[in-house]
Amino acid sequence: MMTPHSQRAHAKLSASGSSRWMACTPSAALEADIPDTTSVFAEEGTAAHELSEIFLLHEIGEISKRSRTMRLNKFKQENEHYSTAMEDYVQSYVDVVMERINEARASTPDALVMIEQRLDFSSWVPEGFGTGDVLILADGQLEVIDLKYGKGVPVSAENNSQMRLYGLGAYDRYSMLYDIESVRMTIVQPRLDSISSETLSVDELLSWGENEVKPKAEMAANGEGDFVPGEHCRFCKIAATCRARAEENLKMAEYDFADPATLSNDEIAAILAIAEELQKWAKDITEYALEQAEKHGVKFNGWKLVEGRSNRKYTDEEEVAKVLIEEGFTEEQLFEKKLLTITKMEKLTGKKVFAEKLGDFVVKPPGKPTLVPESDKRPELQSAESAEADFADSL
Ligand code: SF4
Repeated sequence: MMTPHSQRAHAKLSASGSSRWMACTPSAALEADIPDTTSVFAEEGTAAHELSEIFLLHEIGEISKRSRTMRLNKFKQENEHYSTAMEDYVQSYVDVVMERINEARASTPDALVMIEQRLDFSSWVPEGFGTGDVLILADGQLEVIDLKYGKGVPVSAENNSQMRLYGLGAYDRYSMLYDIESVRMTIVQPRLDSISSETLSVDELLSWGENEVKPKAEMAANGEGDFVPGEHCRFCKIAATCRARAEENLKMAEYDFADPATLSNDEIAAILAIAEELQKWAKDITEYALEQAEKHGVKFNGWKLVEGRSNRKYTDEEEVAKVLIEEGFTEEQLFEKKLLTITKMEKLTGKKVFAEKLGDFVVKPPGKPTLVPESDKRPELQSAESAEADFADSL
């Protein structure tokens, strides 16, 4: 029997944390001492994986329709994260997987399809293992498909160390029995309508494993190497207290100001470039210090824990209404009816019904102007002043 998703063990050098421990090798040893925490997003992801497993096992003929229905009903009853929208999103992921399976079966009728396989990549990473959501093996190509239920940012499969490690694990498991020439790694993010793949020849994948991963994994397992701060600090468990990150950020903040009393536009551009990371770092430190003070009584010199501001609230809404109706107020005066928000409505109706019935009633107003680095993919907006000038020119 498969181990439930929520109870699966996590490797010290995990595939999901590999972009971090490959960039900053000593981070893994420090993180290992800190207990895992969970979030509602992680729990939702686990639930979506469990649901997808039920659907896929039925689609590939491993469980009957009756068993699917029973499992689905049990899932609905027991899982607080279930919603019609989750079912729709998971179904659209399953549709993509089935397309890939059917493509493979078209060329190789006895293509191998495996769901939720433990993948051991310990030949490259000490004690390294993970779970491949779907594996398809046909015509010399092995495909590893990963469901990502998050809807924050699209995650690319290109150059993605987590997917490549799964690819290595899958190759290691099946290469003794089958002829494999290439490995395709695919990430499906149904809530962002995003599908991304990378295909590497077996030689390319193995060379990456030997030359890039192996030496770094050894250093990471031994807690060796230099601390290297960067984008990857974001999900590091010691991000708030890491000295290397603090030093890097303080170095960034030591801006060498020129003489005039006000900053030039070039100086402002340089500050904007570091402000985002400084804000993230400040937020991490503030949250960490608050947690330490509140939960563990830690004192920070010059700081104290106080009660924050709060708003008045009713102790008993039913009683409030009763009292006021007795005073002669009407229910219409006391209660306001509000339509559910778009997110809640979509959760209620499911993605398809929402799109079919309400699609015409939903607009996405232009977003508030925001300053981003030039590398951002969004097209540049005109300033109000230049738009006015263009309008004047057209007259
Ligand atoms: S916060 Fe960044 S620099 Fe510090 S250990 Fe973690 S990944 Fe390395």
